[in-house]
Amino acid sequence: MSIACLHKHNLVQHVVSQNCDGLHLRSGLPQAAISELHGNMYIEVCTSCTPNREYVRVFDVTERTALHRHHTGRMCHKCGAQLRDTIVHFGEKGTLRQPLNWEAATEAASKADVILCLGSSLKVLKKYPRLWCMSKPPTRRPKLYIVNLQWTPKDDLAALKLHGRCDDVMRLLMAELGLEIPRYDRRRAGPCSPAGPSGAAAGKCRGGPGGGPGWAGAALPGRGRAVGCGGAGGAV
Ligand SMILES: [Zn+2]
Repeated sequence: MSIACLHKHNLVQHVVSQNCDGLHLRSGLPQAAISELHGNMYIEVCTSCTPNREYVRVFDVTERTALHRHHTGRMCHKCGAQLRDTIVHFGEKGTLRQPLNWEAATEAASKADVILCLGSSLKVLKKYPRLWCMSKPPTRRPKLYIVNLQWTPKDDLAALKLHGRCDDVMRLLMAELGLEIPRYDRRRAGPCSPAGPSGAAAGKCRGGPGGGPGWAGAALPGRGRAVGCGGAGGAV
């Protein structure tokens, strides 16, 4: 909820997430500001429709899917083709535009002044050089701020490594910024929420352009642009 608040105040531009649980979307972040690099277990898509037709469900769509087996058993309302989940399993290459949203993630990273890494071991994310602007000279790359209780492969490159819990650090950060952490409200929650605006209708469809994949990152314009990436994220 803190991240959604920071985005609302234009302090975070983009969120890159490795989680598939849809919580960032549920927190109220706009989908365009999220890159869920490994998919979203509440979203299934029709890849036969152009652009891909997206169905946001209130239930887990991955019950019948697995590695290299992505059909969910449901059909597209528009064209009748089989729907597929959006999950990127270990060993697979994510090719869906949404909800992976690689384009927005790399664009945000290229403009970022700061990358805030919350709760991710970065063991997988380190393999994506575009997210770290590795093609730029070291002095022109975004500054890394890492919050994690364990070692990460990016620690030596970080401007600051905080050995703390994400919730504790975010509470302190929000207090320092004078921002109140919003309470999660199911009635106002984003998609994927059982009682959210689209949750009430089982299976909200988004057929138009604009839906997209994502990861967790954020940027802070005005005082710099930040991109954040999260693994576990946090409840705060
Ligand atoms: Zn279709």
